[in-house]
Amino acid sequence: MSPSHHPADDILTAYAAGALESGFGLVVGAHVEMCPACRRRLGALEAASGDALADLPGAALAADAYAQTVARLDGVETHAPVADRRPLLERLPLSKKKWIAPGVWVSAVKTPHAADDRVYVLHVGPGRPTARHTHLGAEFCTVLSGSYRDELGVFRAGDFAAADGALEHQPLVAGDEACVCLFATEGRLQAKDWVGRLAFAYADV
Ligand SMILES: [Zn+2]
Repeated sequence: MSPSHHPADDILTAYAAGALESGFGLVVGAHVEMCPACRRRLGALEAASGDALADLPGAALAADAYAQTVARLDGVETHAPVADRRPLLERLPLSKKKWIAPGVWVSAVKTPHAADDRVYVLHVGPGRPTARHTHLGAEFCTVLSGSYRDELGVFRAGDFAAADGALEHQPLVAGDEACVCLFATEGRLQAKDWVGRLAFAYADV
């Protein structure tokens, strides 16, 4: 089934331009990988950037510029990329799991990110709620498997969600399958009760 929650156009445009922080780009990329509609939209955005390049004023080139370029390419070794078809969860460089409660674990993704940001995978078993919390800054999330429900609706595998400081929510796993999500957050999560605060401190999210 195709995802039904997508990144807004400004997020997709920033992703196409390579302008997102790497953790946030990873979360958008996880959605794009599972979303044919966003792949098409991304293709259109990239084509529009290409058209914009074509409108730039021309510049004078040396008469042998083409030959020089080809000569340089001769020395370059190329390798055809090998597509890794494993699910994204198996391809992510994950740190050791931190178990927070029965059925609930967090694992940081080993990827470059700003010191205050967090990039991690959260696994929550069926029927389990997460702590009610708010956000200090932006949060991007792509559901890798299973589904959850919160104040904004039901989010299934492939769906993308963006939150900001204005959103207070308590996601609850929907269905009878564990929900696994990839997150990038700017600043730390703010739990609404002490159990949540302890859990977040331990999980380092
Ligand atoms: Zn999409």
